[in-house]
Amino acid sequence: MNKYPLNRRIFLWTSLGTALGMSSRQAKASSDRENSSARQMKPQTRTRLVDQPQVKRDFRKDGRSRKVVFVAHCVLNQNARHVDCADFPALMKPLLAALEAQEIGIIQMPCPELMALGLGRDRDVPPLDTIREALELPEASSRLQPSLDQIVYLVKEYRWQGFEVVGVLGKNGSPSCGVETTSLKTGLAPGEGVFIRLLRNRFVKEGIKVGIRGVDDHRQQEAIDWVSRQIAHLK
Ligand code: SF4
Repeated sequence: MNKYPLNRRIFLWTSLGTALGMSSRQAKASSDRENSSARQMKPQTRTRLVDQPQVKRDFRKDGRSRKVVFVAHCVLNQNARHVDCADFPALMKPLLAALEAQEIGIIQMPCPELMALGLGRDRDVPPLDTIREALELPEASSRLQPSLDQIVYLVKEYRWQGFEVVGVLGKNGSPSCGVETTSLKTGLAPGEGVFIRLLRNRFVKEGIKVGIRGVDDHRQQEAIDWVSRQIAHLK
């Protein structure tokens, strides 16, 4: 026989249940508080790679040469050239073979004309009669800014990580990528293309010193010799 009357037993169970319920709710609330403050702490205690992408490493321990060169897009892809102007099916083979022999990594710059004026660009699209004039327009210039930013970033990052940037190889005769020669309304002439001029100006502004040289489609050996001299100079 239970020594407590029924109404007393009900009271005791209710009190015990309430007390147990409260303590588990309190424990849960306290654990929620801890989790939430741990979540709030995370950004301060852990730096994510995406927030700090420039982590310096020692790249001397694996097989890479730690040498890179920037090349005009069409050195690796003649399909980007404007209509009737591709001299080769796909690549500039002698130059690429020489870069491979010297174990230089190749960074393909974007094709400025393709990015600003499209693949169907040519001199006959009114109201301008040269690609150069079209590229000088502010709209074209602003389309080239991301490419310039990308090249500047890559030069800085590779150098900061201890790599050699051998140089930039443009494409002589081009209204955009010409270095020693370019195209004017009157034809081939000494001077720089629009993109190379913008790139050189950016390098000066950013305090970057990188050699720039043009490749001639049918005199690639001159650019190959220049690369060899750059390599010798870096040693
Ligand atoms: S020379 Fe420059 S603009 Fe012309 S196709 Fe090559 S990369 Fe493009």
